[in-house]
Amino acid sequence: MPIDPTKPYDDSNIFARILRGELPCKRIYEDEHALAFHDINPLAPVHILVIPKGPYVSWDDFSARASDAEMAGFVRAVGKVARDQQLEVQGYRLLANIGKRAGQEVPHLHVHIFGGQPLGPMLA
Ligand code: IMP
Repeated sequence: MPIDPTKPYDDSNIFARILRGELPCKRIYEDEHALAFHDINPLAPVHILVIPKGPYVSWDDFSARASDAEMAGFVRAVGKVARDQQLEVQGYRLLANIGKRAGQEVPHLHVHIFGGQPLGPMLA
């Protein structure tokens, strides 16, 4: 079900449960501000999700409410994960769906990292 962006953060969402260790994930990277793991239903040879540790519904929510330290930490984590996978050599794509009409399904901000193949105009 796509999210309703008018609702506040709901900490029963799947990614909140992964952050609390209640559900497993294939973890790639973790630091103070971010967790990165493999998407359960990959749409490309490399399909990684990076999520902030704080309770933010979407990029819209995050960019409005997060501290500068959280924002800088999260953006740096996304870049580090991509560099660690050496994705910059062949190119990669970042994507964040924001809200119902964009098809956001999990109401905790996540940035998709796609790579490992030539990427067309749009993946999803
Ligand atoms: P959205 O459409 O931008 O909200 O993307 C949600 C993504 O989360 C989809 O690509 C799903 O495959 C992925 N996903 C959902 N549940 C899990 C999980 O438990 N582990 C890893 N990825 C998940």
